[in-house]
Amino acid sequence: MAMDHVIGYLCRLCGAAHTLEAVDYICPCHGIEGILDVQYDYDLLRTRLTPALLAESREMSMWRYKALLPVHPEAPVPPLRVGWTPLYAAPRLAALVGLPQVWVKDDGLNPTASFKDRASALAVVKAQECGSKVVTTASTGNAAAALAGLAASVGLTAVIFVPKSAPAAKIAQHLIYGAHVILVDGTYDAAFELTVEVARTFGWYNRNTAYNPFMSEGKKTAAYEIWEQLDGRVPDCVVVPVGDGCILGGIHKGFKDLLALGWIERLPRLIGVQAEGSSALVQAYTCGGPLGQIERVDAVTVADSICAGLPRDHIKALAGVRETGGAFLAVSDAEILSAIPVVARNTGVFCEPAAAASYAGLVGAVERGLIDREERVVLLLTGSGLKDITSAMRTVSAPPVIMPHARLADTVAAVRATLADLF
Ligand SMILES: *Cc1c(COP(=O)(O)O)cnc(C)c1O
Ligand SMILES: [Zn+2]
Repeated sequence: MAMDHVIGYLCRLCGAAHTLEAVDYICPCHGIEGILDVQYDYDLLRTRLTPALLAESREMSMWRYKALLPVHPEAPVPPLRVGWTPLYAAPRLAALVGLPQVWVKDDGLNPTASFKDRASALAVVKAQECGSKVVTTASTGNAAAALAGLAASVGLTAVIFVPKSAPAAKIAQHLIYGAHVILVDGTYDAAFELTVEVARTFGWYNRNTAYNPFMSEGKKTAAYEIWEQLDGRVPDCVVVPVGDGCILGGIHKGFKDLLALGWIERLPRLIGVQAEGSSALVQAYTCGGPLGQIERVDAVTVADSICAGLPRDHIKALAGVRETGGAFLAVSDAEILSAIPVVARNTGVFCEPAAAASYAGLVGAVERGLIDREERVVLLLTGSGLKDITSAMRTVSAPPVIMPHARLADTVAAVRATLADLF
């Protein structure tokens, strides 16, 4: 069976339609800004898949939605288990912010410990489909770790370009998975432009976010999961940390697919959270200009995964927020850092700064009236705390050291004295 469920691409800027075969990555009329959207034949899909069939699926990964992805039904998929991450009820977080219901979706549980595995898994399938042996990407760290891991799982070679300032744990992942790592002595934005040229010159498969149109397709699977995990309902809001905007655009696409299939009746409001030091999309949203208008900023934030001076998926992200009646807001690095232990202590999920930004954003959105007191909210926790322990450790104080005494009872007494407030 061919990919007859995929109609082709639509350019988000000019509305031009292209067939899959006619285009590599971007709209030829719009260069790097010509971000394409994959179009599906929903009538055909409805004859192949139903919510009841999905509910019976025993595929506990993103590939339970293979029929809704731009791949051949028989295409081999990587062996690592990506997606179908848990959605936990978080009643104590809900109480802290004064909402009736909050859930957290722990995408740090993916094989390379971030949401990026959803996109990289699809990249690896498409690279194999076109016979590429080398896959490449620019990344702030997690997309590259995901690509390195997924490539390793199927024996492809990965070449990655990351800013020199990426957290050590992420660079360790790239190297341990055997990727060829090039540290760019510059920003993610510089690495992005370099990678486009390198891939073009050497004929490598390019996974760059918001350049490769399939990345939002991989990421949309999280929206399907939220819907299934809530027994076929949608929450009122989904809070998404935003760097390039690909996750937010992907979540929007996933819910739009469900609406087009007639499986849901409304879209949840999407709340995009950026760091104050990397808030080009918040500014574009606040200005209210036309889609496509964005001003590059000099991005600096502790949340390295959302540090993007020129958010590459700004068109899909801005459309996602506007079309769902959502909002964009910025939070400070201090708010992001202090969210890490709050989320960990109230849910048991330890997340990296960028992921904790979604909780900081929830607090800000409730305070500013962007989320009202009745709403039921899902927070996307997009990456594991083990990705960046240096930042996490800034939020806690050093533990006490105890010197064992000659008599054990004396040491026990010293423990009691140290933990005085427990007694
Ligand atoms: C990449 C990433 C984000 C932001 O995703 P974009 O698609 O760049 O907006 C958020 N959190 C984590 C942990 C990430 O790795
Ligand atoms: Zn175009």
